[in-house]
Amino acid sequence: MKNILLIHTGGTIAMKLNTDTGGVIVSAANPLTMEIDKIQQFARITEIEAFNIPSPHITAEHMLNLKDLIAEQTTSGEFDGVVITHGTDTLEETAYFLELATSTDLPIVLTGAMRSSNEIGSDGVYNLMSAVRVAANENAHGKGVLVVLNDEIHTATNVTKTHASNVSTFQSPQYGPIGIVTKSGIHFHHAPLSRIFLPVQAISKKVAMFKVYEGMASDLLHAASTMGYDGVVLEGFGQGNVPPTLLPGIRHLLSEKVPVILVSRCFNGIAQDVYAYEGGGKMLKEMGVQFEHGLSGQKARLKLLLTLCSK
Ligand code: ASP
Repeated sequence: MKNILLIHTGGTIAMKLNTDTGGVIVSAANPLTMEIDKIQQFARITEIEAFNIPSPHITAEHMLNLKDLIAEQTTSGEFDGVVITHGTDTLEETAYFLELATSTDLPIVLTGAMRSSNEIGSDGVYNLMSAVRVAANENAHGKGVLVVLNDEIHTATNVTKTHASNVSTFQSPQYGPIGIVTKSGIHFHHAPLSRIFLPVQAISKKVAMFKVYEGMASDLLHAASTMGYDGVVLEGFGQGNVPPTLLPGIRHLLSEKVPVILVSRCFNGIAQDVYAYEGGGKMLKEMGVQFEHGLSGQKARLKLLLTLCSK
């Protein structure tokens, strides 16, 4: 039987519905711990509670702590895989941080739930069981950090939360999942081609992110420079364009040696240097804006943050 390290961080998967108020609340004792017997048939589980917080409270510092915890716990070779339970709001960010900041071939699988532990149709224990089954599967090795919910296996790089409340919220737009979980087994049908490793030791930089909108002025970019941000990510229009009113702000940041990264605010396709008009991708590239192909804004931001912190 495989040995799986189970790290809890909180989120809805560890919460309860208060039937008097109708609010979903953090539970002092993690309800998943009471259900571990149901999971032990798939792997030998060692549980650690790293944090017990809603995922909107998770910061890059927490992600760094998780990276260090995984390194510390897995160096002995005792574990065959790692499962992390996490709130779904920022789950994709923690998953992508760990994708960049860890270099182990061991499966690292994140999971969560959309319905808390005592709600009808709660998906927590089921998703945890699926994540453990994936982490214990030989074919999960060398595929980078994975996200498993609702019978699907996604890469940390491509997955995103697409629905505020539906249990099938986690999707990989344009790419799809790389495998599925069924009653009989774990079936991978794709594998990622490459992986980047950024050996971050401390979070020492600040990166801002802005979604570009019609007529957007340069003042927020000037403010980012004044406030000491070390990098800026822009989610631009379509194939990678911005309004001309943003150009003075971009020029200012670049003149201050603050990297400006451009992604598309469309969730399919990539930003590239196609249009040669004022504010078009060609002009931005000539100015020194860097294009990040195929990442969402929140992931491009983490990649820039970790790149700057690893220097
Ligand atoms: N707001 C919750 C959180 O991210 C949502 C969830 O876990 O599904 O902690």
